[in-house]
Amino acid sequence: MGDETRQREALLEAIENIADRIDNEKKHLTDLDSAIGDADHGANLNRGFKAVMEKIKDMDDDADVQEITKTVGMTLVSEVGGAAGPLYGGSTMTASTELADGITAESSVAFAEAFLEKLQDRGDARVGDKTMIDAITPAVHTYKKSIEQDDLPPLEALAKAVDAAERGVEFTVPIRASKGRASFLGWRSTGHQDPGATSTLFILEEILKTAEQYLEGDTDVDATSPTIPDEEPDELEEE
Ligand code: ADP
Ligand code: MG
Repeated sequence: MGDETRQREALLEAIENIADRIDNEKKHLTDLDSAIGDADHGANLNRGFKAVMEKIKDMDDDADVQEITKTVGMTLVSEVGGAAGPLYGGSTMTASTELADGITAESSVAFAEAFLEKLQDRGDARVGDKTMIDAITPAVHTYKKSIEQDDLPPLEALAKAVDAAERGVEFTVPIRASKGRASFLGWRSTGHQDPGATSTLFILEEILKTAEQYLEGDTDVDATSPTIPDEEPDELEEE
């Protein structure tokens, strides 16, 4: 996607959009956590993203996308208490190495896969345990398949990933929690939407929203169709 400066700008915009969304949804997330946890998920994440915004303000102007992403992860690990901080933060830190050469269709798939792998290692949860894994796993698989097998432009792939995450969030409602605090409730955890899966969806929606702004008509990032002529940017939007 474009040059280094534009990638950096897009990334910073995405982080700011995520921080704003978490702030707007903190009560919603905390309400979900009060039903099956300890009513702190919204406050936890909001504290983390407020700290991220502060950290990023102080960063060097020439910090690249990898450094910025790693800083986001480190800040979430140190500022967010509970399960979600180390999970989101640690996975972001690890996956940031995939962005060493910038953000491309290929590196974004590698980032997503590394993120998911680290999350599974750390949390030891699988699909069906009623955690953020239920939203992230289908999103990552859909994104990878859309790019690598279906040759879709990243923006379309991302939109499909968000849809998959949304279905993953809905899937958490009827099932029983087997990991995290909600698992202490046993069957009483059924009928409630998982807060972590919900915050994952919000984060992905904000990444999509930012990408829409930066990738509309952008052909550079689409490594799979390098021959789309400049004068027909709409071609990217066709199915
Ligand atoms: P805590 O449960 O420690 O209070 P939060 O409330 O911030 O932490 O986050 C709760 C969310 O963390 C859950 O809704 C769930 O999605 C996620 N979670 C908990 N345990 C795990 C795990 N082992 N693997 C993946 N996600 C988990
Ligand atoms: Mg909690």
